Amino acid sequence: MNSLPTILRAVVHWLPAIGVAMLGLVLTHVLAEQQRTSVERVAQARHAEQVEAAVNAVNQRILAYTEVVAGMRDLYLVDPALDYRQFERIAAGHDVRVSYPEIRNLSFTRRVPAAGRSVFEQRMREQAEAKGYAAGQIIHPDPGPGFENLFVVEHLWPHAGNDGVWGLSIHAQPNNLASMLRAWATGVAVVSAPFSLVQERELANGFLLRFPVFTAGRGAGPSAPEFIGAIAASIHARSMMSALEDSGFLRGLALKIEDLGRVAEAEPGVTILLGTTPSWSATRADEALMVQRELVVHDRRWQLSFLPAQGLLSEQERQLPHWISAGGVLASLLLAMVASVLTRRYLLTLNAVRSTHQALERSEDRFLAVFNQAAVGISLTDSENGHFLRVNRKYGAILGYHEDELMVLSIQSLSHPDELGADEAAMAGLRASAVSEYHCEKRLRHKNGSWIWVDLTVSPVFDSVGERPWHVGVIQDISARKAAEAELQYLAYHDALTGLPNRRQLLDRLPQILQAGARRQRFGALLMFDLDHFKLLNETRGHDQGDQLLREVAARLRDENGLVVRHGDDEFILVAEDLADNAVLAAARAGALGEGVLERLRAPVQLGGKPYQATVSMGVSLFAGDELSVDELLSRADLAMHEAKLNGRNTFRFYDPALQELANVRAALSADMQVGLEQQQFELFYQPQLEHGYIRGAEVLLRWRHPRDGLVSPATFIPLAEETGFVVELGDWVLRTACVQLAQWKKTPGFAELMLAVNVSPRQFRQADFVERVLAALASSGAEARQLKLELTEGLLLHDVDDTIDKMMRLKSYGVSFSLDDFGTGYSSLAYLKRLPLDQLKIDQSFVRDVLTDPNDAAIARTVVALATSLGLAVIAEGVETEEQLDFLERNHCHAWQGYLFSKPVPVAEFEALLVRS
Ligand code: C2E
Ligand code: CA
Ligand code: CA
Repeated sequence: MNSLPTILRAVVHWLPAIGVAMLGLVLTHVLAEQQRTSVERVAQARHAEQVEAAVNAVNQRILAYTEVVAGMRDLYLVDPALDYRQFERIAAGHDVRVSYPEIRNLSFTRRVPAAGRSVFEQRMREQAEAKGYAAGQIIHPDPGPGFENLFVVEHLWPHAGNDGVWGLSIHAQPNNLASMLRAWATGVAVVSAPFSLVQERELANGFLLRFPVFTAGRGAGPSAPEFIGAIAASIHARSMMSALEDSGFLRGLALKIEDLGRVAEAEPGVTILLGTTPSWSATRADEALMVQRELVVHDRRWQLSFLPAQGLLSEQERQLPHWISAGGVLASLLLAMVASVLTRRYLLTLNAVRSTHQALERSEDRFLAVFNQAAVGISLTDSENGHFLRVNRKYGAILGYHEDELMVLSIQSLSHPDELGADEAAMAGLRASAVSEYHCEKRLRHKNGSWIWVDLTVSPVFDSVGERPWHVGVIQDISARKAAEAELQYLAYHDALTGLPNRRQLLDRLPQILQAGARRQRFGALLMFDLDHFKLLNETRGHDQGDQLLREVAARLRDENGLVVRHGDDEFILVAEDLADNAVLAAARAGALGEGVLERLRAPVQLGGKPYQATVSMGVSLFAGDELSVDELLSRADLAMHEAKLNGRNTFRFYDPALQELANVRAALSADMQVGLEQQQFELFYQPQLEHGYIRGAEVLLRWRHPRDGLVSPATFIPLAEETGFVVELGDWVLRTACVQLAQWKKTPGFAELMLAVNVSPRQFRQADFVERVLAALASSGAEARQLKLELTEGLLLHDVDDTIDKMMRLKSYGVSFSLDDFGTGYSSLAYLKRLPLDQLKIDQSFVRDVLTDPNDAAIARTVVALATSLGLAVIAEGVETEEQLDFLERNHCHAWQGYLFSKPVPVAEFEALLVRS
């Protein structure tokens, strides 16, 4: 069943057509009506015009009769005694009937007073005799006696066709009689009311137009004019009508003439039909079209009624409104059809557009649904600048943004800095159509700042002209996979028990480390060690405790500088790079490193609530670049490790016997130093520092009086102490001892103003509490800070410039001064010298030694003096051995110096003696 809206929709299609049709029909109707009215008006005008013409024609006819009758009357006026022969001859001479066939006859009706009847009858009889009529026909019908006057037709023309007229006494015809009397009374022409003419067999209606005839008398009395009768024309109405019609004056009008009565009668008389034209009864014309005119015919009023006998209008004229109607209807229908077709087409188009639109909407909806519910992130970006133009929900979700927030960002702004270069190159390739698609795995920044690994595919989108203004990017969050990969990687490259890098990682990275070493020409060391008696531990205390120990070992090694690897069950490896650029120093540092590890692992571990002391045996193999293969390096360390086991475990061994010897010596020395400080084997020597020839103070130089080896040079043990860290303790002792000396000298005249310069090692200076230690030395001794000068080296100053400056400034605020030792051998630059709050530059002895022989060194020495002067710093030369060197320096404005020329470093007593002597 059709629903109402469906029906309405069906009807709606037709509405415009129906509207157009209705409008068309209404217009047609109006037009046709207008046409009809105008045609009618034309018809009426034409009708009216015809009517006037017709009325005129009737009037003319009447006038014509009047003239005929008037002419006849004149005969009587001339000769009242006119006889019937004259009458007939004259009338026949007119032969009015040719022109007016409706004039049935002309007659003279005589007034016959009662007294003159016999005379009259006699005359009549003579006439009848002459004509051969029977005597009985005279005066008929005879009204009998009693009438004062009789009116009898005496003269008649023609007699043929007018049977019964001659001798007729008109008393029997009231209308005729009335008219006669009127003529007599008025003396003018009269017309009778219609009456039936005796001589006519059919349609006998007719009238008489008569003139009275009087004798030519005067006044009243016997000589007064006497009415003798009337001359009349008898007119057959129907013939008159036919004649009018035939004359053409009626021009297609049907005419009816009625007698309305006498003119003088105030009240309307009885209407008597006079006659109609033959077309009258045939006409079908509407009564409404009837036009009536009143015509005064002598003493009577005639009413002339006209009807159009044939159409007033031509066929075409009459048809015009119909044609217009038909045409209008046709046009309306055509227009309606066109409207319908157009409506249909419009509706079809509308439907098509609507359904296209709906299809588009559905398509858009589907697209949006797909776009937004896609399991992958999709973006549309500007191919030029990577700005986001559109992203789907998933895209935002992957990166923790709402879609709108991304609209102000670009993909570049979210990309990992390391990948920007590759991205840009790929985008350029896409823009240049060099590639059709770019696929990569990359990192994008999540809103929370973390990096999300995504799989990215970028393809260009072509516009209608084939440009590539956009890029469609599809991203998938692969961070889980990346995490899994990382996990796998981690598992593949790490030991599950300890979390340390495993052998595989070692084998991966070692070649790289060796190559890097080769490039830098630096020595490194591989330290391989395993736990002593680990198997026994496992067997006696269980594998759990064995595992626990391994984990503990790993924990203690974790902070080690270098690659720490669990190499096997209880075997570990430490790879240290960049130790030194020579084997001896590298060995020393590797030894120190190994010693440190042994030391750390020696500390007891709690296993299952009981303490356990683990020890390790360690083999060390140095490497310098990649001249050794990884296998070779490992097997050397392994060999050395077995050597360590053979040597009673809990120790380390170098693969190289010579290095091992060195290590042995150093190990011994290191141990001896410790003991030496406890047993006060160290003492200070003083080398005078002169200015303009006067001793102004001394540099304090450390001496070790070894019980077995005698006096040991600081050049031998200071570097070792520096590596082992013992130098901190030792340097502290030097500082305190020097301060005590200064404090002592304060009480001795001539010594109170001496300056002491104390060497400070890098490791010592870098101690966080270095400033406090210096201040403590000064405070505990009572020495003056301004008499203490600290000698620092360039390498030390360069390490952490801000911290260095901070420490120097704090000490300077107490009065401590600073000298830059060995100046000229390091990296000194003007910029950095300017920043440091130094007081003095110390020209290194290597330059001083050669100032006379090496012009280069001389230039350096000169430059140092000039530089120091320009920076507002004092300058001192060390290692001055000859007068010539001193001369050179003084020539170059360096007046402060120390060296063998004046004195070697000497014990305090000797120094004091030197001072006293000078
Ligand atoms: P240095 O600070 O450059 O000390 C100067 C070195 O040159 C001293 O060697 C000194 O004996 C030597 N010397 C002095 N005048 C001459 C000379 O005219 N000709 C020659 N050929 N040599 C001369 P020393 O005493 O063996 O000290 C060696 C280095 O040990 C020092 O070099 C210094 O760096 C370090 N050192 C010495 N004592 C200490 C100390 O108490 N603490 C620290 N940290 N280092 C010290
Ligand atoms: Ca020094
Ligand atoms: Ca020096």
